[in-house]
Amino acid sequence: VRAVVVWGTQLTLEHSSALAHAPEAPVVLIESLRVCRRYRYHRQKLRFVLTAMRDFADELRAAGRRVVHRRLDEAHPDWFTELGRVCRTHGFTELVAMRAADRAPQRRLEDWCRRRGVPLTVTPDAMFLTAAEDFAAWRRDHGRLRMEDFYRWQRQRLGILMDGDGPLGGRWNHDADNRRPLPADVHPPAPALPSPSPHAAEVTRLVEERFADHPGSLEVHWLPTTRVAARAWLGDFVARRLDRFGPYEDAMRPGEPFLFHSAVSPLLNIGLLHPREVVDAVVAAGAPMNSTEGFVRQVIGWREFVHALYHHRPARWVASNRLRHRRRLPGWWWRLGDPPEPALAEAMGRLHRYGYTHHIERLMLFGNYMLLSRYRPREVFDWFMTMYVDAYEWVMVPNVIGMSQYADGGIERGGFATKPYISGAGYLQRMGGLWPSTAAARASGWTEMYWRFLEDHRDLLGSNPRLRTVYRALDRRRAPVAPPGQSALWQEPARR
Ligand SMILES: Cc1cc2nc3c(=O)[nH]c(=O)nc-3n(C[C@H](O)[C@H](O)[C@H](O)COP(=O)(O)OP(=O)(O)OC[C@H]3O[C@@H](n4cnc5c(N)ncnc54)[C@H](O)[C@@H]3O)c2cc1C
Repeated sequence: VRAVVVWGTQLTLEHSSALAHAPEAPVVLIESLRVCRRYRYHRQKLRFVLTAMRDFADELRAAGRRVVHRRLDEAHPDWFTELGRVCRTHGFTELVAMRAADRAPQRRLEDWCRRRGVPLTVTPDAMFLTAAEDFAAWRRDHGRLRMEDFYRWQRQRLGILMDGDGPLGGRWNHDADNRRPLPADVHPPAPALPSPSPHAAEVTRLVEERFADHPGSLEVHWLPTTRVAARAWLGDFVARRLDRFGPYEDAMRPGEPFLFHSAVSPLLNIGLLHPREVVDAVVAAGAPMNSTEGFVRQVIGWREFVHALYHHRPARWVASNRLRHRRRLPGWWWRLGDPPEPALAEAMGRLHRYGYTHHIERLMLFGNYMLLSRYRPREVFDWFMTMYVDAYEWVMVPNVIGMSQYADGGIERGGFATKPYISGAGYLQRMGGLWPSTAAARASGWTEMYWRFLEDHRDLLGSNPRLRTVYRALDRRRAPVAPPGQSALWQEPARR
């Protein structure tokens, strides 16, 4: 007897190649305590995924599928022990599963089946637009793996925003029109929040009881957990925020979690939305080109690129530490409170509340501060994995280890990013007004950390063409910040 195994990150009836492969087979869904404890996940994430699994079980039943669903409170803590029990109880002798986006669960399932002699059919991961073979074909023609080249190839291959062989509107890239600070009189519309699922109250109780030691507040119900609610969430973004996504995609404003961002990553990453439908809805909306192109680039460019690269590069990528950073992540990061750097406090409070901050806050606020502080990249990775509702290994390794912490040494050394994403407080002040004044930002400990970092890593970064101007500015700015021989010594940033 054959059954389809569905992971909590594959909650899609329309796009599951495994459910399509075995349309009559019963479906196995398992909530596992051990999986929920793999990291000390933010409680918003636990509630979101567990509720969405329960909603998905309902959707499957309504579509006429037989479902074997083990809830957290009735299942054995270990996912595989429970799978064994389910197979014995229901007489399942053969399994079908769609390939998981992360390596570890896929490998473990294959090993488990092999050891028990259970035949396993693995169907392709249909939750992305770029199959491994597509990426391999592109890769063969490209020495350096640059996102911009990949993105243009994606546009052509998928026929998105094209005019014949060229880009619609004559330009591939509208970044020059984007990245503006948010003017004081622009007020982003708050997203229309979904009504909580019928399962939400019970799951909230469960999470409060079982995961009292995990970070994060459960106060706000902001994440859709059904297919219908996910479509409505996407529709709300397209109708009310997309038009100004482009110009303000890098802006920050205290008290505003979403600005003009879509907040669709949590939904895409567990199958409640598919990238093709997201891109189609955005293109069909006819928003200004800098917003449409800017958004499409994120989804068919960045998202697909990091996923393909995660599978293309060796698993040891996550352990990189080319800059040899050794500081431990202090406890206040894990408590999500009381940071010694006041510029982090407001966004950290929002992270506690939502398990979400937008891209530039991840990259240029938290990631930037962490890199300048020279924390161990693996601890930074664990922190992001713990705190974000949309965190999975396939997306975190490239974004945290590669892009944010430059731990693989960048593209020059076979890594990911073309430069480290660091800045002094001046940039953050311009984009988010996080200090009382520009002068205060310039004089801050943050800015001092920035120059010191560049100074100390001159051997690795000094030859990077994208940092040439910055190093020239550093040389003009001053003689060494500390007496010779001491510049590599760490100093705690000044408290303001
Ligand atoms: C340090 C760091 C950690 C990150 N962690 C995650 C993570 O755990 N999960 C995750 O999905 N994304 C992650 N990202 C990428 C990006 O920041 C988020 O996808 C985005 O902020 C999600 O919010 P949104 O849906 O409002 O995005 P929008 O700004 O509205 O962008 C639209 C979509 O584009 C995709 N996208 C944009 N940039 C990236 C990128 N660099 N990598 C992958 N997809 C991208 C996402 O699916 C996103 O939903 C991380 C980036 C950094 C720098």
